[in-house]
Amino acid sequence: MRKLKSFLLVLAFLICLTGHSTGQVQNHINNEQNQGQIQNQGPITLVVHGGAGTLTKKNMTNEQEQAYKNKIAEAIDIGFAILESGGTALDAVIHTIVILENSPLFNAGKGAVFTHTGENELDASIMDGSNITAGAVAGVKTIKNPILAARAVMEQSPHVMLSGAGAEEFALKAGLEIVDPSYFYTERRYKSLQRAIENEKGGSGQVDELYDHKFGTVGVVALDADGNLAAGTSTGGTNNKKFGRIGDSPIIGAGTYADNNSCAVSSTGDGEYYIRGVVAYDIAARVKYLGLEIEEAAESVIHGQLKEMGGSGGVICLDQKGNYVMEFNTEGMYRGVKQKGKKMEVYIY
Ligand code: ASP
Repeated sequence: MRKLKSFLLVLAFLICLTGHSTGQVQNHINNEQNQGQIQNQGPITLVVHGGAGTLTKKNMTNEQEQAYKNKIAEAIDIGFAILESGGTALDAVIHTIVILENSPLFNAGKGAVFTHTGENELDASIMDGSNITAGAVAGVKTIKNPILAARAVMEQSPHVMLSGAGAEEFALKAGLEIVDPSYFYTERRYKSLQRAIENEKGGSGQVDELYDHKFGTVGVVALDADGNLAAGTSTGGTNNKKFGRIGDSPIIGAGTYADNNSCAVSSTGDGEYYIRGVVAYDIAARVKYLGLEIEEAAESVIHGQLKEMGGSGGVICLDQKGNYVMEFNTEGMYRGVKQKGKKMEVYIY
């Protein structure tokens, strides 16, 4: 009888224990599901920037304005179609940036600016907000589409950033298109370099307002149907930069950041200030830790901290609810947005 009693006690204890641990497992699963579940998930959205700077109506002809707007619209169409067919935010960001990199209009890929020594050194980065993975390349001279190399670093290497010759060899092995450095030559950018060098020597002081003072980097943020965010940025850097100079664009947290739990950000502007201000992450951190809406977070950084430091430029940001901002403290920023159920919008000033 005593034996039966103790047996029943042990059995009851075991049942309790299993029940408890099953409950724990169940809770864990529920928690994970909750983390994946998005409260008020927003409509699929794609936001693009094509650089910020002294972009004013008087500095542009109607044809120039139209050419920029058309290219941004074309890029948005490509990226948004990917989101509409159920593709990932990551794919949408990458393909949109490739279109802009292949255009000579923007300071990324084909239209990159020159270093002081007359070369093109390109930087790019990508971040997947669904799992906080990221990839970047810096100072590359022969990779046709640096954003594809950034993705390859993220997905096919244990690293986040590769630079120079190592990045180029990695891209070649990853099967990406390699071009002769002369592919990146455009007369317009070369003339910009010549003017900058002349002016440095105390020359005529002539500037082309449209090409010499604007930054021209490209960046994209996207929200897909699964509620995942991604951000990417690509650039030739700054006109007349020292060779070897690396800006904010390939630096995660400065030029690019994405986290489903806060927002996706891509920056454009004075890279040195964006690096020191950790601008993209600063905005995301305000959203995550202070509970700010992205509008307030972006405004306070771009018109507050960044400006107080002396930095100019802008950002695009997007959260999981589909809220987006295109904020800048310069005269203009090439930018556009498409959100499900709404008309595409493209602006410069
Ligand atoms: N932020 C870029 C850099 O400093 C320039 C730009 O945005 O146009 O390299």
